[in-house]
Amino acid sequence: MTEIFTGSFTQQESIPEEGIEAALAVLRHGRLHRYNVADGELGETALLEQEFAAYTGARFALACASGGYAMCTALRALGVKAGDKVLSNAFTLAPVPGAIASLGARPVYVGVTEALTLDLDELEAKADQADVLLLSHMRGHICDMDRLMAICENAGVRVVEDCAHTMGARWRGVPSGRHGVIGCYSCQTYKHVNSGEGGFLVTDDEELAARAIVLSGSYMLYERHLAAPPPEVFDRVKYETPNISGRMDNLRAAILRPQLRTLDEQVSRWNARYRALEDGLQGTPGLTLIPRPEVEEYVGSSFQLLLLDWPKDDVMNVVSRCAAKGVELKWFGADEPTAFTSRYDSWRYSDVPSLPDSDRVLAGLLDMRVPLTFSLEDCALIARIIRAEVGAVYQQAVRQAG
Ligand SMILES: *Cc1c(COP(=O)(O)O)cnc(C)c1O
Repeated sequence: MTEIFTGSFTQQESIPEEGIEAALAVLRHGRLHRYNVADGELGETALLEQEFAAYTGARFALACASGGYAMCTALRALGVKAGDKVLSNAFTLAPVPGAIASLGARPVYVGVTEALTLDLDELEAKADQADVLLLSHMRGHICDMDRLMAICENAGVRVVEDCAHTMGARWRGVPSGRHGVIGCYSCQTYKHVNSGEGGFLVTDDEELAARAIVLSGSYMLYERHLAAPPPEVFDRVKYETPNISGRMDNLRAAILRPQLRTLDEQVSRWNARYRALEDGLQGTPGLTLIPRPEVEEYVGSSFQLLLLDWPKDDVMNVVSRCAAKGVELKWFGADEPTAFTSRYDSWRYSDVPSLPDSDRVLAGLLDMRVPLTFSLEDCALIARIIRAEVGAVYQQAVRQAG
């Protein structure tokens, strides 16, 4: 195997020209603060919210500083307080338990299955421990939302969805983020739209929307929002809701609006790349691909594979051999977390449960980003490299065992 991949796993596409033009217009007039609008001007941020509400089919939308901020705000709007328990994923990104911890609340972790989704049997068993579930569709894998919602409705648990990897995805035709009472999204560079930092929160609940808007730092200027409930709803919450500044600004909103318009096309491009990787890795001995349910319309912006029950040394060997060929795989089973691979037992500010089934899955879990700067040929090449390196290590292990 002499092929080497030379692309960058962290290089996204540039901002569309239309976004650059709109950003320059904002820079030229100087009104970057979302509430700094000229007479008759609606403002990029308010328009972005209106467009995002329409895109997700939500009554209300708030744009804010980050996805993590959206999750903190969602939990606060729901009344989560210090000391409360909040159900969440054992396998997710650090800002998810971080959002819970930022309120002084305590995460109750629910494990991950071989499908890389929340273990719903375990959720059912733990559902009586909390009133809120912060559900992360980690790496874009959506669990059986019909069963999840039935479990939560039955137990009186309200669901906040972390859609950092599922903006543009659907479950049984319903946009991700629209099953629970609040959906949260990220506009950070590695997600599906890119403003460097940024986030959204959507809901159909008028009181939650009003609280979230005041929390985000609206002062008494909430009437400048275009995807918000009427002023009388704010009258009910405005004196009892703190301002915890975390607004979106007009510059980032200007960059995002054209990206939102092309999001569905981008999703198709991501999925073509995902399928090229999947096709190239199908049937590799020792390697397990993640099945995608028919009713899950996913966004293949990252790719996962499992080397289930492999010895740690062999997994490490695959990672380093692939790295030598230019293919950057992140491993969630290492003893020490690196980059974004921290996991429930890395978050020691809260109780760390024993989750042996999740440990088994994470010990074999390899992950890579799939930026749209990769061509379909790049993806086929990456698959050939992984296939060859997994094969080489697997053959060696089989020979030693035999
Ligand atoms: C990126 C990410 C977040 C947080 O988004 P930020 O905008 O970076 O705060 C939350 N959850 C998951 C799963 C993520 O990948």
